[in-house]
Amino acid sequence: MRTRPCWVEISARSFEENYRFLMSLAAPGVELLAMVKADAYGHSLALCAAAAVRAGARWLGVTSVEEGVAARAVCPEARVLVMSGVFPGQGAAVVDHGLTAVVWEPWQLEELEGAARAAGAGPAAVHLEIDTGMSRQGVGTDELAAVLARFGEGSALRLEGVMTHLFAADEADGRVTEGQLARLDEALGRIEAGGLGPEWLNVGNSAALLAGQAARIGALAKRWGLKAMLRPGLALYGVAPEFKPEEPEAVVAARARLQPVLSWKTRVVGVRSVPSGAVVGYNGTFVASEPMRLALLAVGYADGLDRRLGNRFSLLVRGERAPLVGRISMDQAVLDVTEIDGVEAGDEVVILGTQGGETITAFDHAEAAGTIPWEVFTRIGTRVRRVLV
Ligand SMILES: *Cc1c(COP(=O)(O)O)cnc(C)c1O
Repeated sequence: MRTRPCWVEISARSFEENYRFLMSLAAPGVELLAMVKADAYGHSLALCAAAAVRAGARWLGVTSVEEGVAARAVCPEARVLVMSGVFPGQGAAVVDHGLTAVVWEPWQLEELEGAARAAGAGPAAVHLEIDTGMSRQGVGTDELAAVLARFGEGSALRLEGVMTHLFAADEADGRVTEGQLARLDEALGRIEAGGLGPEWLNVGNSAALLAGQAARIGALAKRWGLKAMLRPGLALYGVAPEFKPEEPEAVVAARARLQPVLSWKTRVVGVRSVPSGAVVGYNGTFVASEPMRLALLAVGYADGLDRRLGNRFSLLVRGERAPLVGRISMDQAVLDVTEIDGVEAGDEVVILGTQGGETITAFDHAEAAGTIPWEVFTRIGTRVRRVLV
């Protein structure tokens, strides 16, 4: 039982509404896979995978076989796509739990072929990733013919989908994306020439969807007789990626419609008064310039509160912003509540979310810590319990 007062509240209703809103942005006939990798971006796979399915998602995306098995336990009917590779010895788990793997390395194909043959239940469906320029994962042009040859008659694998990852969909001019889609188009031509007839074209993250690329991807899919599937993640959690250099209007409008799913909270452990000149925390990096009142909190960097936020960020208590003073400790942090009346032990403190009329966003955390909202969410520690609200 976890009762330490540092917790995350998850609004499954907001998640479901975000999914339905994103569906309304997808062109008719375009499928949306709900990305629930990394414990649903730190929001809890168990809570969010179930919410996605309630909202109508037929596909869930994870990045490991372990997460796939966890998703299957919650969602017996959903298709579960394992995006970041199947490792030696994992083929049987993929087949036994009815997961669908993204593949690109010959040895991954062998692992799954062996598992599919051993299970004797017919060919295993896979999605083949094409490297269209990110140089991360996927088959390059030179190896495509050799990989396609493995899907012929009598293969233990069935090429169900072709995917690629757009790595600059948040660049407003769309030039990089156009180049990637052109390389994808060429690969699709070669796949068709090989007579393989996959069903799905699986391309595009939140940025692609919010920028209105669903129609473009849908048209590319149609050209090759495929159905299009986009894979939003961050937007499902209520956050629209920032576009550089300028935000397309569609993105601004979408941001206004998305609802935050997560609030991160803690409580005041106690309040103390210190005299002018008192030092606060490790190495005394903060010195009281006047008599002050300080509130101790049950949250630290081991919970995911970035240590770089010490002396440079504020949290919410009694509906007001209170500065974090001194270094953030592993399990504790200190707020300056001198200017806020009545703060006492047990008061709720909002680390990320809304209190009164004030809001702290994942972008606020990201900016202060020098990172991105994706990392802010996924670094919230596993010991911070996720509560459905
Ligand atoms: C994480 C991920 C996504 C979703 O990205 P967001 O920017 O969070 O929408 C889509 N596709 C792949 C391959 C990913 O790894």
